[in-house]
Amino acid sequence: MNWDEFADWGGKAVAFGAEYHKTLRDRPVRPRVSPGEIAAQLPASPPEGGEGMEAILEDFERIVMPGLTHWQHPRFFAYFPANAAPPSMLAEMLVTMLAPQCMLWQTSPAATEMEGVMLDWLRQAVGLPEGFQGVIQDSASSATLAAVLVMRERALGWAGNVQGLAGQPAVRIYCSDQVHTSIDRAAWVSGVGQENLVKLPAVAEDPLRPMDVAALRAAIAADRAAGYLPAGIIGVTGATGMGACDRLGELADVAQAEDLYLHIDAAWAGAGMICPENRVLWEGVERADSMVFNPHKWMGAQFDCSAHFIRDPDALRQTLAIRPEFLKTLGAEDVTDYSEWSIPLGRRFRALKLWFLIRTYGLEGLREMIRNHIAWSRDLAARLAAEPDFEIVTAPVLSLFSFRHAGDDAHNLKLVEAINADGRIYLTQNKVDGQVVIRFQVGAFGATGADVATAFDVITEIARDMA
Ligand SMILES: *Cc1c(COP(=O)(O)O)cnc(C)c1O
Repeated sequence: MNWDEFADWGGKAVAFGAEYHKTLRDRPVRPRVSPGEIAAQLPASPPEGGEGMEAILEDFERIVMPGLTHWQHPRFFAYFPANAAPPSMLAEMLVTMLAPQCMLWQTSPAATEMEGVMLDWLRQAVGLPEGFQGVIQDSASSATLAAVLVMRERALGWAGNVQGLAGQPAVRIYCSDQVHTSIDRAAWVSGVGQENLVKLPAVAEDPLRPMDVAALRAAIAADRAAGYLPAGIIGVTGATGMGACDRLGELADVAQAEDLYLHIDAAWAGAGMICPENRVLWEGVERADSMVFNPHKWMGAQFDCSAHFIRDPDALRQTLAIRPEFLKTLGAEDVTDYSEWSIPLGRRFRALKLWFLIRTYGLEGLREMIRNHIAWSRDLAARLAAEPDFEIVTAPVLSLFSFRHAGDDAHNLKLVEAINADGRIYLTQNKVDGQVVIRFQVGAFGATGADVATAFDVITEIARDMA
C-alpha cells in the first residue's frame, strides 16, 4: 500500500467512524451472535497473495461489525464505561500513525515530558496534593500488580527479586471482600499467593460497605503473632460490584501505625473526583502511598490509559527498574524513563489523548458530563423505587446502583437476559448478600437524560410482560 492509497482509505475509515457514531443509537447494544459464528466466516488459513483494501473493508463490515458489542453506545449501562471521546480518538489515530516506542525519555522526549505534565494535570484535577507523581499504565490491573510488588519487596528488604520467595517469611496483604479480581491476580502473580491475601469483611450496615477496620487491626496482630510478614493494605473507592468505598483515612491510620504500604484502587470512581463534591468518598486518599484510576473508563480517554500515582517513585523503581547497557541514556542522567515504573518495557504514547481530551472539553466540560450521569442515575433509582414491584437494593454510589424486580433470583436473571436480548439497553446482573440483583450504571460519554428515561421504559415494560 502506498501513502496516497493510505490517505484515501484513511479518509474513508474516518468517515465510516463518524457515520457509525451518528447512528449508533439505532443499533442493538449487544450483538445477536452465537459462539463460533464469526470464526466460521473467516478463512482457516492465511492468503498466499495480497488482497485489496476494498475487499478487506467490505468483509470488516459484513463479518466483524455484527459481532461487536457497542461499548460507545449511549445506552450501555453494563459493567463500567470504556469511553472514547472523539478528540481522544483523533489523538490515538495520530499516535497510531507515528507509532513511537516511549520506554525511555530519549526514545521520544515529547512523550515522556507530555506524560509527566498530563499526570500532574490529572493529579490536580482529582484533588491529590503535590508530591504525588504519576505514570500511565496499560490497566489498573498492572498498576495494582506494580503496587503489590512494591509492598512485597519493601517488606522483604528488596530480597524477593534477588533470592526468590522460597525461604522468605510469608508476606501478607489486606483488603476488603469487595475488591476487584485484579487484586487477587496481583497476589497470585507476585508470588504472595491467594492464601496470603487476607480479605476482611465489609461493614454490611454501612451503605458504602467499607472494610471492617477493627477486623483489619485484629488480623494484622494475629498474623504478626503467627510469624507472617504484613506488607500492605489495598483500599478501594468505588468497587466494581456495588461501588463500595473504604474509609481511607482509617486505613491510612493503620498503615502508618503498622508501617504498611497503602495502595488505593479507584479504577472507576477516580474520574468522579474531578467534581469536588464527590471527594468525601475517598477522604484520606492523600495519605496513601499509591492510587490508580482509569481515565479510560469514565473520563473519555480511549483504552488504554490508567493513571497510577505514587508518593515515592524510588521504591517503585527499586522494585522494577533494570538498566542494561543499551538502555542507558548517555549524557542525560536526570531524565525520567517511565519503563522503570512499569512491568513491560515497551510503552505507547498514551499521554497525547489526555492532552487532546482535556483541552477540548476543559475540566468543566468533563465535570458536567459526570454530574449529569450521577443525577440521571439517582433519578432512575428514585423512579424505580417509586414503583411497587421494584426495589433498590444498593443505593447510588456516584452513578452506580442495583435493583431487583419482585420475584425470585431466577426471575431476575431471566429479566436481565430478556432486557439485553431486546437490544435497546445493556446491563448486567450481580449478587449482593447472596441475592441476585440487577446492576445499573450511567457512564457513556454520549448518554443523554432521554437515554436513561428509555432505560426506565424498557426495564418496566419487559419486567411486566414477563410477570
Ligand atoms: C475496572 C476495574 C479494575 C480493572 O481495571 P483494568 O484497567 O481493566 O485492569 C480494577 N478495579 C476496579 C474497581 C475496577 O472498576
